[in-house]
Amino acid sequence: MTEGRAGGRLATLLVKPERDPATAGKCVLIVEDNPLNMKLFSAVVEAQGYHVLQATNGSQGLYLAHLEHPDLIMMDVQLPDMSGLEVTHSLKADNYTRDIPIIVTTAHWLRGDEEEIRASGCDGFIAKPIAIAEFLELIELFVTRGAAHRDTSTGQVESDRIRR
Ligand code: MN
Repeated sequence: MTEGRAGGRLATLLVKPERDPATAGKCVLIVEDNPLNMKLFSAVVEAQGYHVLQATNGSQGLYLAHLEHPDLIMMDVQLPDMSGLEVTHSLKADNYTRDIPIIVTTAHWLRGDEEEIRASGCDGFIAKPIAIAEFLELIELFVTRGAAHRDTSTGQVESDRIRR
C-alpha cells in the first residue's frame, strides 16, 4: 500500500528540526478522501514546515480554498461528492482562487486521463503512490516560485518527470 512503500523514505524526510523560512507561514490545502493518503501527505507536507488544511470531499475543499486562500492545493480526483477535476475547474474559473497552484493527485493512471487532467486547469499532477522526493520538489516549485512561474507556458509540469 501507499504508506508501506513510502514509509522508509518518509522517516528520513521527517527529520527536519528547524522551520524553514521559505515555508514558514505558507499553507497547503490537501483534498483527499483516503485516510491513509491524507495521513501520509499531511505528514510529508507538515515536515517541510507548511501549515496543513484538510478536506475530505470536494465541497469542503471549495469552501476552505475560498476561506483560507492557501498557497497550494493538492487535489485528489475521486472524491465522494464530486470529481476533484470539477473542483479544480471551478477554482480556476474564479478570480479569487485561480492563482492558487493546484497539484492533482491521481491513483488510476490510464492513457487519456492526462488530457482530462490538464483540461481541468491544474498546474501539475502526480500519480499515486507518490514518489516523495519528486513530490516535495513539485510543492516547493509551486509555492516558492508562486504566480510568476504559473504565468509561463511551462507552468504545467511534465508528468514523465514526476511519475516513477
Ligand atoms: Mn479519492
